[in-house]
Amino acid sequence: MHVKLIEIIKGFFHKKEKQEQETPPASSAQQPEAASSARLKKACKKCGKTFSYDPSWDHIPNYCKECRQQFAREKEEKQRAGEPRKIKRKCRECGKSFTFPSTLPHYPNYCSNCRKAHQASMKAKYNRKKSTGGKNTEKAD
Ligand SMILES: [Zn+2]
Ligand SMILES: [Zn+2]
Repeated sequence: MHVKLIEIIKGFFHKKEKQEQETPPASSAQQPEAASSARLKKACKKCGKTFSYDPSWDHIPNYCKECRQQFAREKEEKQRAGEPRKIKRKCRECGKSFTFPSTLPHYPNYCSNCRKAHQASMKAKYNRKKSTGGKNTEKAD
């Protein structure tokens, strides 16, 4: 049994040698060592650390793996922060629903149209008050 196995292995190697002569690159290309030896080294643009990359890659990175991971994390955080939640409310004035970003310091009760109208009327009121107030002011003396 064992002898037979060795003979089989021996036969396999003989066969392999023959095969390699016929088709040499097929078996060596699959070895990972051959791939890693083809890798080149590059300095990270951010931290200056050298990292290895495969020149056969479509996109050659400018940054090491750690920095690229950090960039991805920062990008994700930025996206999360820069994507304000939209809050939907019904306008107290006209009843129309409107949305506004959650980043607003004060949540509006009115839609943008009514807010404008409201602000305008407030301004008018304030101006009238001021002018009438000035008129009605009795002189101290
Ligand atoms: Zn780096
Ligand atoms: Zn409204």
